[in-house]
Amino acid sequence: MQFTDILGQEQALHILCQAISHHQVAHAYLFNGPEGVGKKKTALALAQYLNCEQPDEQLNSCGTCPSCLQAASGNYPDLFLVEPDGTTIKIEQIRSLLNKLSLRSYAGGYQVVIIDQAHTMTEQAANCLLKTLEEPPANTVFFLITSQSAMLPITIISRCQQLQFHPLAPEIIRQVLQAKYPEKQSRIGLVTALAKGSLYTAEEILNNEDFTQARTDFYDLLGRLRELSPADILLWCEQWDKNRKMVAVLLELSQLWYHDTLLLATAKKQNLLINQDYLAALQQVKLTPAQALQILEACQTAIRQLESNATPRLTLSVLLLKIQTILKEV
Ligand SMILES: [Zn+2]
Repeated sequence: MQFTDILGQEQALHILCQAISHHQVAHAYLFNGPEGVGKKKTALALAQYLNCEQPDEQLNSCGTCPSCLQAASGNYPDLFLVEPDGTTIKIEQIRSLLNKLSLRSYAGGYQVVIIDQAHTMTEQAANCLLKTLEEPPANTVFFLITSQSAMLPITIISRCQQLQFHPLAPEIIRQVLQAKYPEKQSRIGLVTALAKGSLYTAEEILNNEDFTQARTDFYDLLGRLRELSPADILLWCEQWDKNRKMVAVLLELSQLWYHDTLLLATAKKQNLLINQDYLAALQQVKLTPAQALQILEACQTAIRQLESNATPRLTLSVLLLKIQTILKEV
């Protein structure tokens, strides 16, 4: 992994590269930002760079020394990765890590520790790590990676240099997907619109076989929404009980659907539609621009509610019932 492989995080990379060129790499970094935007890749790039035998002046690893070759095969030398065991990172995991760090017969180079989803550390685990962050071992760099830094104890945060990672621009996501999945071109526009700046989410949706079926079913439902009874709607929503991820996608899909109908109703710009493959069905949706705007606001509210932990099924069914009411106000 090279720094040049990391896209769209210029600010964070600039700060890191400045630190490297001034030989001021911190002993602990906290990378905060959405999932799937390059936080772990950046930590891996730095891990490779720090152990490369012949890095160049542009801060690239050589790619050919034994250490780089190992990294290329996924076996980074002196890299310790800690991830949640179940839903949390436990004190035993941190103890075992610290043990390994202290046992290692040190022969030059850097030890790099990546604690992924650091916010899932239990209180005991965080306290155990804190002692080490206060008196860090030499030539060791800790990367705490999180999408929810507010959940970390302030004592931990204050021991780390914080770097913020941002959602990726749609253009970057589109480019990466187009290069990596040329056979899935027709869905890339839609997936990019759903990914909210996360390459991880984009790839997950693109490669999820259930997604295509769920989208077909959902758009079929939206097409018939006016005729359905509230009981039908509630029944349909039952299948998504507790499926937070999929409901989040459905809420986004409903937003894209009504955004497309608004485009059709106002600008008649077919080439701007996200759901190009549903043109005929979209043209059947009869609603005024004012109604479409009202529905889009309802979608936004539902998305916010789900993000602040509302029940998935309830959020989805309330939204659909609300849309139905708006559609009937003609
Ligand atoms: Zn190298």
